[in-house]
Amino acid sequence: MTDCIFCKLVNKTIPTRVVYEDEDVFVFNDINPKAEVHLLIIPKKHIENMLVLTEQDQPLMGKIMVLANKLAVEHGLDKGYKTQINTGPMGGQEVYHLHVHVVGNK
Ligand code: 5GP
Ligand code: ZN
Repeated sequence: MTDCIFCKLVNKTIPTRVVYEDEDVFVFNDINPKAEVHLLIIPKKHIENMLVLTEQDQPLMGKIMVLANKLAVEHGLDKGYKTQINTGPMGGQEVYHLHVHVVGNK
């Protein structure tokens, strides 16, 4: 997806500070943080949103959710935090590359 901003971050066409990265997943800080910690966790492969998920994405989505908690705790959010996935026009999605928001104050 050449015109997707999050794919450009994954491909490092646009530089960003990488919070976490492996073969499947990429994590960075939201440019407009809503709290002390505001991470965005995305699959490296371009998936528009939850509406197009298939059975095959189950391991990937499971991995993302477990990682969300690990990174939240590592960032000091061990008392709790919010997660959010905005999906489609009625879900307030702005960037059409699936992402999990991890938001919280220490
Ligand atoms: P959505 O409403 O789609 O769930 O949220 C998109 C999020 O991506 C917003 O919180 C917005 O601040 C963030 N965002 C949009 N463009 C960029 C960018 O270029 N870099 C980073 N780090 N975050 C972005
Ligand atoms: Zn993308």
